[in-house]
Amino acid sequence: TTKVTVIGAGLAGVEAAWQIAQAGVAVDLYEMRPVRASPAHHTAELAELVCSNSFGAMASDRAAGLLHEELRRLGSIIISTADRHSVPAGGALAVDRGVFSSQLTTTLANHPLINLKREEITEIPTDGVVVLATGPLTSPQLASDLQRFTGMEYFSFFDAASPIVVGESINQEIVFLASRYDKGESAYLNCPMNKEQYLHFWQELAHAEQAELKDFERENAKFFEGCLPIEELAKRGEDTMRYGPLKPVGLFDSRLGDFRDPVNKSKRPYAVVQLRQEDKAGELWNMVGFQTNLKWGEQKRVFSLIPGLEKAEFVRMGVMHRNTFINSPGLLHPTLQFQSRETLLAAGQLVGTEGYTAATAGGWLAGTNAARLILGKEPLIIPNTTMMGALFDFISSASPKHFQPMPPNFGILPQLPSKIRNKRERYGQYRDRSLTDLDTWQTKLLTSALTVVT
Ligand code: FAD
Repeated sequence: TTKVTVIGAGLAGVEAAWQIAQAGVAVDLYEMRPVRASPAHHTAELAELVCSNSFGAMASDRAAGLLHEELRRLGSIIISTADRHSVPAGGALAVDRGVFSSQLTTTLANHPLINLKREEITEIPTDGVVVLATGPLTSPQLASDLQRFTGMEYFSFFDAASPIVVGESINQEIVFLASRYDKGESAYLNCPMNKEQYLHFWQELAHAEQAELKDFERENAKFFEGCLPIEELAKRGEDTMRYGPLKPVGLFDSRLGDFRDPVNKSKRPYAVVQLRQEDKAGELWNMVGFQTNLKWGEQKRVFSLIPGLEKAEFVRMGVMHRNTFINSPGLLHPTLQFQSRETLLAAGQLVGTEGYTAATAGGWLAGTNAARLILGKEPLIIPNTTMMGALFDFISSASPKHFQPMPPNFGILPQLPSKIRNKRERYGQYRDRSLTDLDTWQTKLLTSALTVVT
């Protein structure tokens, strides 16, 4: 074959199709709207922004801003269109959503190498180079086929994710490292609570404000039955959490003595919040059992009452919503190719990256690599010191057992050679390293491409 099939013309699919066409390769781009509606989209335009009109903070020493800048340097059509149609939004890159999507629709529909087809795809095409970019609300039939392809356990229809906290922001003088009954490695940080702290936390949690669920999410609430939101447990009674995720048994702070000694039994905390290591480097920690529907501001307020988390910095808040995604760590290479079929690639929310800008980044890489496969070139891996490279490194190498979607954040980047206490300074250094490495990588790529031609 000489062309690529891209399925889904959201943020990822549009970027992918554009990069393929820019490489001189023809592309069939399938979008089911308006023939078939999604529960969250409202228009027939490509790259519709389903909710907020913001791509996140603009400053390049912020995670989203750094990703914008990397994509700008790589020639992303989504980011250049966003820049062109931005509206003032207090430091965020926000766009006039109508103009943004209609511009992209016109540009893609008029591209001589892009054949836009308004059609729902119900099965993964078995031939040729294919990019799947059907997003968090992938239509049911295609989702079933994808589930068959990946295997049940590698496919999720909803996201019941707990908040993730930056390790450096946890008060290490309060928390202790231990696994329950001292089994296995101590991969948990434990936040001990006395009775008074627990009761205060319980009261605040049970009365905290919840976010409005969308209609289609309410319909799908049955998916969440086996996995109740933490505030729901709190509402069920004073001790329900202490018999659930906050149970204090089998956890002992070795700083207080030997846990096997019976005299130390009384030193057991009244309740314990556990944090599980999320990444290989231990820079990110997941709050075990804290999937929640609370508003984000409320999560910050109430979870900061937990001893050790008073100054916690959250890289993602807890959510419970419908979200179709695959368990990428067991399935994908960092090139976004499937391990079991290298001519099949995937991008966007479907691969477990979170948010508009991350979806755009995935579209760039999957599109670029799909075109390279057609052109007989080696697929690219982006350096993991860049935000883009770190995202795809994370989703292809995280623990498949607890995989949850990840937004861009500095915790997934490899540590800097020396520790920098000041956060803004540290993020500035991450930014400098990322952009230098990206430029070097791009120059090398360009030089090697020229060498092949001559
Ligand atoms: P999408 O943008 O959803 O694109 C997928 C496209 O594939 C759609 O156009 C769809 O119609 C099409 N499609 C699906 N199935 C088929 C099929 N079988 N055949 C052909 N076409 C198909 N992220 C943010 O950053 N900010 C937010 O405010 C935000 N709010 C959200 C609100 C909701 C309700 C949801 C569900 C998600 C939200 N997200 C938000 C996450 C958001 O979906 C992603 O950031 C972004 O849209 C992902 O891009 P994508 O290209 O992966 O998917």
